[in-house]
Amino acid sequence: MTQETGGFAALDLNPNIVAAVLATGYEEPSAIQQQSIPIILAGHDMIGQAQTGTGKTAAFALPILNKIDVSKREPQALILAPTRELALQVATAFETYAKQMPGVNVVAVYGGAPMGPQLRAIRNGAQIVVATPGRLCDHLRRDEKVLSTVQYLVLDEADEMLKLGFMDDLEVIFDAIPASRQTVLFSATLPSSIRSIAERHLREPKHVKIQSKTQTVTAIEQAHLMVHADQKIPAVLRLLEVEEFDALIAFVRTKQATLDLAAALEAKGYKAAALNGDIAQNQRERVIDSLKDGRLDIVVATDVAARGLDVPRITHVFNVDMPYDPESYVHRIGRTGRAGRDGRALLLVTPRERRMLQVIERVTGQKVAEARLPNAQAVLDARIKKLTSSLAPLVAEAEATHGDLFDRLTSDLGCSARALAAALLRKATNGQALDLAAVEGEQPLVPSFAPRGERTERGERGERPERGDRERRAPMPLAEGRVRCRTALGARDGIAAKNLLGAILNEGGLARDAIGRIQVRDSFSLVELPEDGLEKLLSKLKDTRVAGKQLKLRRYRED
Ligand code: AMP
Repeated sequence: MTQETGGFAALDLNPNIVAAVLATGYEEPSAIQQQSIPIILAGHDMIGQAQTGTGKTAAFALPILNKIDVSKREPQALILAPTRELALQVATAFETYAKQMPGVNVVAVYGGAPMGPQLRAIRNGAQIVVATPGRLCDHLRRDEKVLSTVQYLVLDEADEMLKLGFMDDLEVIFDAIPASRQTVLFSATLPSSIRSIAERHLREPKHVKIQSKTQTVTAIEQAHLMVHADQKIPAVLRLLEVEEFDALIAFVRTKQATLDLAAALEAKGYKAAALNGDIAQNQRERVIDSLKDGRLDIVVATDVAARGLDVPRITHVFNVDMPYDPESYVHRIGRTGRAGRDGRALLLVTPRERRMLQVIERVTGQKVAEARLPNAQAVLDARIKKLTSSLAPLVAEAEATHGDLFDRLTSDLGCSARALAAALLRKATNGQALDLAAVEGEQPLVPSFAPRGERTERGERGERPERGDRERRAPMPLAEGRVRCRTALGARDGIAAKNLLGAILNEGGLARDAIGRIQVRDSFSLVELPEDGLEKLLSKLKDTRVAGKQLKLRRYRED
């Protein structure tokens, strides 16, 4: 066990739980975990003020798993969550942390799915029930005893539950659980309605809040980029094309993520390495030395592994995964802008983490401006600039050393100087796309598969059953100056990307490079088009038909 893993091991949790957590790739408890776990283990009621992204799920899931009596096959813990997505996510988290505890059963109970199997799973010995309040009340109406064995109750995102109108349901649920239970309430905010619930239903609760002091980070230019979780690596690769950095540190949350991103960077030719708690101390020192002297340019690290890393060459910090709290954000970005140099910090934010971004802005007292992914033109310009600067030092001397060879080759090959130079360029650039259409074409057409719950703030959506869930995948971030348009024609209408491209090129009179990604789904398609002149273009395409059907392209707004 490495030194850092002592963090979880020191928490007095069952070794099987610690082992499962470490296997997940967590290196040390987050602040909310550090504070909440001992309180919950000791049997106290608790109010935790924390938002998504702080690690709050494990903060209650780990101590609750510790308390479960696996030999008893009846509901012992009830977790209430505002939405189906969160309920599923919490249930999955419990299953992950219980991987090495045979006999633990978890059931998720939510609206929009048949009730029978849920009730059977509860009766068949699930010790942990994760439920949305509305559906749970439906079950209580069928069987009022269903929660009579529950000893631990957690309200997750309590403020969201109240916003969604679950107050009355919560009261019903409180009454259906034995009063001797232990109750834990997590909420991002503590309005009076939440405090009043706590007063009525919690016993001498301990309060846990991650204190945030205002901290200034004025020397560092900060920006954020909205991105779906499964788009982070392509987004980082694209950003790196245009960022002029000396050395860069990218922060992620898990060991696996350090390995995945470092491998993707190496595959693109960057001098990159992973730094995580599994890597032996002497090897870590070698990585840091290499970053210092330029043998490496990028290190992908977890917070723990990056401790004490002080390398003046670092010009950029990429927060690929959100930090757990604003302090660690400030700490991370303080790695750049050392010794009076300019620094730039970029934060990738998934839709669920918007609130955490606001907290960071509040605590740092600074707005973190929104950045967009560079478009194909910017990528192309950057590539040509790099090529030019790599050739610049050679032009002065290469003619003397290789001029005769060049003459001989043109004569042997019987080609023009331009043809030979072009052939050499192609060889030297190793298949890299160096014209606009080719750069555009590099982006995957069907890139992402984020779960539906990530698309919008889940609070707005409640438990309403979603139509066509399987079809909804998160779109790629848009390049600057582009908007997404939608047509109801998709694969089931026999449409392929090339049909859409052809129709828009021919009838819209656009150049190929004006059209961005085209994503064809089963029952609809998305096309990226220039924002400039969009209305005129859409009206030109008004009567366009593809595969015999009307295209009816409309601007598509994501949120
Ligand atoms: P939550 O705030 O519970 O929604 O958790 C946010 C994310 O952080 C989830 O993807 C967790 O898997 C991850 N996470 C939670 N605790 C840790 C930890 N101690 N180390 C690394 N990742 C964690």
